[in-house]
Amino acid sequence: MLNNITRDLADHDLRGQVADYIPQLAQVSPQHFGISVATPEGALYSAGDVSQPFSIQSISKVFALTLALGKRGDGIWEYVGREPSGDPFNSIVQLEHESGKPRNPFINAGALAVVDAIMMGHEPKEVLAEILSFIRFLSDDASIYFDHEVAASELEHKHRNASLAHFMKSFGKLQHDVDKILGTYSHQCALAMNCEQLARAGLFLVSDGINQVSGSRVVSAQRARRINSLMMMCGHYDGSGEFAYRVGLPGKSGVGGGILAIAPGKGSIAVWSPGLDTVGNSLLGTKALEMFTQNTGWSVFGH
Ligand code: GLN
Repeated sequence: MLNNITRDLADHDLRGQVADYIPQLAQVSPQHFGISVATPEGALYSAGDVSQPFSIQSISKVFALTLALGKRGDGIWEYVGREPSGDPFNSIVQLEHESGKPRNPFINAGALAVVDAIMMGHEPKEVLAEILSFIRFLSDDASIYFDHEVAASELEHKHRNASLAHFMKSFGKLQHDVDKILGTYSHQCALAMNCEQLARAGLFLVSDGINQVSGSRVVSAQRARRINSLMMMCGHYDGSGEFAYRVGLPGKSGVGGGILAIAPGKGSIAVWSPGLDTVGNSLLGTKALEMFTQNTGWSVFGH
């Protein structure tokens, strides 16, 4: 079935636009397409470009939130909310109305608050080492790395995120130095992973907090369910409603063109197609997930 989806989408000429506000991402060909499905039984099904690493960008916000919940518990909700924003991922408007507290951990402002919460007085290097070892642990793959060129490219054009961070800082909502937060955040977003690694990294969200393939408990069942609910409500920014309607699963997108979708009890699906729709979510990636869930019947809204 994955091969059929890949074949059906191969000739699609409406691929969307590759993100170009991070110049390094603009160099990626929109022709790439890959899809991998990891199941709790240990199977991994793949088609297309599934071994080539891509920039996971905002998908990293799921893993950063998981770490932050581990460190701060529910205390994290003092710094960031749990409501869909209905605004673009890099929007600033809501911050003014809510005293600098971002609506949710998956918009950029919220992800900056999460990084701030993880830092707890540590230097960016130490925090990044922790993020990297966490993602390697989740995927059971020590070869995952930060693409420093992508991080540098984002930092050269950091003005929007810098304004979000300074604005939040002006409300007293960030504890650490803004440049250190931005440097850490840009590297976190610049994690390079392929579809197979990403699908495996999502397995703990499939099985109530346990990665059944490695046998490790990552978070409690309640926490896994809550992370899934946030992905469902906020994972695609102002396209979250559309994604829920078409795909019916919790999902998190990134401007590198990746999407991680979770079918509780069934599997973790990673897709990659770099062209984005107008709200910054992978155009063909969403289409592929829609085809996949129609074929399999996987949905959190039915059985
Ligand atoms: N690093 C990107 C940014 O801050 C992440 C955005 C995204 O993937 N939606 O703009």
